[in-house]
Amino acid sequence: MVCNARWALVLGAILVTVSGCSAEQEAGHGAVRTPAPEPEPQLIHPAFDFVEADLASMLDGMPQDIAGTIREDPHGFLSQVLLVLDEPDDLTILVDKDHPLSDGYRPTDLVDLDALSDELVLSRPGHRLRRGATDALLEMSASALGEGITLMVSSAYRSYEYQQTVYARWVEELGAAMADRVSARPGMSQHQLGTAVDFGCICRAFADQPAGRWLRANAHRYGYSLSYPEGYEEVTGYLYEPWHYRYIGRAAAVLEREYFSGLQHYLLTFLHAHRSFLIVSRR
Ligand SMILES: [Zn+2]
Repeated sequence: MVCNARWALVLGAILVTVSGCSAEQEAGHGAVRTPAPEPEPQLIHPAFDFVEADLASMLDGMPQDIAGTIREDPHGFLSQVLLVLDEPDDLTILVDKDHPLSDGYRPTDLVDLDALSDELVLSRPGHRLRRGATDALLEMSASALGEGITLMVSSAYRSYEYQQTVYARWVEELGAAMADRVSARPGMSQHQLGTAVDFGCICRAFADQPAGRWLRANAHRYGYSLSYPEGYEEVTGYLYEPWHYRYIGRAAAVLEREYFSGLQHYLLTFLHAHRSFLIVSRR
């Protein structure tokens, strides 16, 4: 033995060695000591230059269940985030009561839906929608129709000025406090993005109508997302609007559904807070 050891007789016959040898004691006999290298922090995804602790801090403030889902599968999560980052930013830009668009924001690729009235059901003439959202709407409407469901477009793009008149009308009818629960002030409406669509009756009963039920089950397949779900007024700022969908793109719709409990607001809040960091962290 080259180090301290204790010998003991057990039951008078069995020798038991209780070794006190440790690496330090071994090294004390002339070996050159080099401190064990710190383990390299592991990247959680080869496409991003950050580690698990960075992702954990990005998830601060997220509801526990959402943060937990993401932490269980960080690689899958970031693979889907990559696809979203490759899409135009304005598909997933956060627009709400705290994050208004400028009055000058106006999409440049609006499509006049009247030209597509053979394929779409429109509540009135004059609806316009951005190109990508229109293509997805055409595909979604055709699929719904194949199942006997008619999706009627009741509202689409609204300019800042038009939203001024919509909001003023609600204030006149309900007073400002209630108007703010059901209508966006100018600049705070997703309709100004040109990617939001109101379907059907624009009424609470839409939730239980065939078109409302079909959209809730299928819209995500086409990149559309329910913006103001039931029970989330505290989070979104608006009462349940079963008729209001926003086109966020298919990649974001998958991300929302698989990692953000299907809640658009949390997905958009996450991207709003961390998009720049995610972009500069790409390898
Ligand atoms: Zn709407």
